[in-house]
Amino acid sequence: MPSAALSVPDAGQLARLVARGPVKVRLAIDAGWDGTYTSHNVIGEITGRSKPGDVVLIGGHLDSWDLGTGAIDDAAGVGITMAAATLIAQMPSRPARSIRVVAFANEEQGLHGGKAYAVAHAADAGRHQLSAESDFGAGRIYAFNTGAPEHARAATQQIAQALAPLGIEYAPDKGGPGPDVGPLAAGGAHIAWLAQDGTDYFNLHHTADDTLDKIDPAALAQNVAAYAVFAYLWPRRPKAISAARRSRKRRRRRTDRVRRSAGYARPHRAAIPDATRSNG
Ligand SMILES: [Zn+2]
Repeated sequence: MPSAALSVPDAGQLARLVARGPVKVRLAIDAGWDGTYTSHNVIGEITGRSKPGDVVLIGGHLDSWDLGTGAIDDAAGVGITMAAATLIAQMPSRPARSIRVVAFANEEQGLHGGKAYAVAHAADAGRHQLSAESDFGAGRIYAFNTGAPEHARAATQQIAQALAPLGIEYAPDKGGPGPDVGPLAAGGAHIAWLAQDGTDYFNLHHTADDTLDKIDPAALAQNVAAYAVFAYLWPRRPKAISAARRSRKRRRRRTDRVRRSAGYARPHRAAIPDATRSNG
C-alpha cells in the first residue's frame, strides 16, 4: 500500500484553509518499491585502557527522510556523539573502559541497524555499561538519568553533578532508551537518558524544513559538552568517584576542561517551561 504523511506545518495550513470553506487537495505520491540493498552501521571506538570489553555506547542514526537534508533527524545526533568522542580522544589519558560511537543504519524503516547491533552483541550486551542515542534534534538537554543498577547510583549522581552547570537536572527514575539502543537494552545493556528540548522537533523532522539553519549552535555545543562529560566520566568511574571524594576541586577542573573544549563556556541556568519537557 502506498502511504503518505503530512508535516505539522502543512497540516496546520490545511486546517486553516478548511476552516474557511471547502478545500480541494491534489495528492502526488512518489511511493514505490525499488528492492532492497545492504547498508552498514558505522562504528568508531576509543578502546579502553584496562577494561576494553566494558563499553559506553553513544550514537545516532545515519539515515533520514529525503525531503530535507536530515540535519535535525539525525545528522545532529551523529555529529553530537562523534564530536563528544573526538573531545575525549584529545584528553591526556585514555579511559579505562571503551567508548564506542555508533552511527546506526536505517533507523527510519524499522530500527534495522539497532536490531543488527543487538544481535551481533547478544553475548556482551550486559557489558554495555551505558548506551545512549541522540535522536531528538539539537535542542538543549534539560535532564539526565541512567538505567544503571543500584550499586552504580553514586556514579550516576556524580555525573549528574558534573552536568548541572550545563543546565541539566538529575531526574532519577525517569527516561528510557533511544530507538536504536532499545533492542540492545532489551538484551541487558544499561541506558543513559539525556532529555532534549524538542519544542520544534515535530515541526521539522521528516519534512523539507529539516535543514542545518534550524540548529542553534549554542544548543548544539551544550549537547556535545553533555555527551562528552558523561561518556568521559562513566568509563573512569571507580577512580573518578574516589578522586572526587578526595578532591572536589580536581574533578571540577577536569569536567570544566571537557566542557571548555566543547566550546561551552557559559552555564545555562534559564528555566525551561514545563510545556517543552515532553519527548512526545
Ligand atoms: Zn531519528
